[in-house]
Amino acid sequence: MNAPIPFIDLKRQYAALKAPIAERMQRVLDHGQYIMGPEVGELEGRLAAFTGAAHCITVASGTEALLIALMALNLKPGDEVVTTPFTFAATAEMIVLLGAKPVFVDIEPDTCNIDAALIEAKITPRTRAIMPVSLYGQVADMDAIKAIAERHGLLVIEDAAQSFGATYGIGKSGRKSGNLSTLGCTSFFPSKPLGCYGDGGAIFTNDAALAQACREIRVHGQSARYTHTRVGVGGRMDTLQCAIVLAKLERFEWELDQRRALGARYHALLADVHGVRLLGVRDDRDCVWAQYTVFVENRAAVQAALTAQGIPTAVHYPKPVHHQPAYASLCCPDCCPQSVAAGQQVMSLPMSADLTHEQQDRIVGALQAALVEAAMLALPT
Ligand SMILES: *Cc1c(COP(=O)(O)O)cnc(C)c1O
Repeated sequence: MNAPIPFIDLKRQYAALKAPIAERMQRVLDHGQYIMGPEVGELEGRLAAFTGAAHCITVASGTEALLIALMALNLKPGDEVVTTPFTFAATAEMIVLLGAKPVFVDIEPDTCNIDAALIEAKITPRTRAIMPVSLYGQVADMDAIKAIAERHGLLVIEDAAQSFGATYGIGKSGRKSGNLSTLGCTSFFPSKPLGCYGDGGAIFTNDAALAQACREIRVHGQSARYTHTRVGVGGRMDTLQCAIVLAKLERFEWELDQRRALGARYHALLADVHGVRLLGVRDDRDCVWAQYTVFVENRAAVQAALTAQGIPTAVHYPKPVHHQPAYASLCCPDCCPQSVAAGQQVMSLPMSADLTHEQQDRIVGALQAALVEAAMLALPT
C-alpha cells in the first residue's frame, strides 16, 4: 500500500513556516503578555485590512464569535434567527443558548448553502436576524439574503467559519467573506482555511458601536477595568494563538491560490467520473474549499474502500442539526428534505494547500475504483 495521505496536511505547512512561527512564539515568551498582548491588536489590524472591514475582534473560537455577535445584537429569549440546519451544530447552538429560536431553512441541493428563495416564507414578527453559513468555503447568496433582510428590517450574521479568504465577486472586485454582513464570524480551528494551533476566532463589522459591544462582551462586559457595563463572557483569543496566525499569514494568499487551483483540478478530474456528483460552484464567487466535498451513493462502502487505500475521508455532516436529538423539537423532521438528502451523500476528500498533484491523482484513481467496488456490492445478489 502507498503511504497514507493526510486528510489535512498541517505537517508540511508547519515545515514551511517553522522559522516565522518559532520567532513569533519566542517574542511572546519574551514579553510575557499572554493575554491581550500586542500580537492581538496586530492580528486584528491585519485581518481587518485583509477583509476590508473597519473592525476585527479576535475571540476564543468560532463558536465564541457566534455567541458574542448574537449577544452584541442583544438577541433575547423568544427572538427568532433564520438559519440553515446543514452546518456544524455551533451555528444553531449559540442561538438556542441565548434562549432564542433557530428557524431552519433548507439548502440549495448543489451548493449546500441556505436557499435564499425559501427564507422569506419563514420570517415572522419575532425574526431578528438571518444567519447564513458559507459552507465548504463558498460564500452563501449574500446579496439576495441582504435584500431580504433590508426589506424586513433584519440583521445578517455570516457564519464564515469555513470561508475565510473566499470572495463574493471574482478577482480584485471580489468582496471578502466575513465582511459581507452586519457581523461576520470566523474560526481559526486548526483545520479551517486559516488556522491556529488551538482554538481561536474573529468577528468582523463596519459598525463601531457593535464592534465596541463585541470588545466589551469578550472581557466580561467591561467598558473599563472593574466596570462591568453589561453581561459578557471570557472570550479572548490568547496572544500565542494570535502570534501563530500572524506567522501563517506569510503564505496565506499562496495557500488560498493553491486551494482554489486544487479544487478546480479535483472538479476537472472528477467531471466525467460515473457515480460522483460535484458540488455546485457559482461563477460569481470563488470557493476556498475548506473541505473538498462531493456527493456519492453507497457512501459507507466508498469510504471503506478508500480507507483501505490509505485515503481518509470525512462527512460534513451526516445529519442536519434538526435531526440531532438536542434540536429535534425545533421543527418537524420533514422541514428540510434537501439537507437530509445531502447528509446521506456528502463525503469530503483530503484537501489542504500542500496536497500535491500526485496525491490528488492517487485519490481520484482510488475513488474511481472504490465507486466501482461499492456499486458491485450494492447489486442484488
Ligand atoms: C468550525 C465551525 C464553527 C465553530 O468554530 P470553532 O472554532 O470550532 O468553535 C462554527 N460554524 C461552522 C460552520 C464551522 O465549520
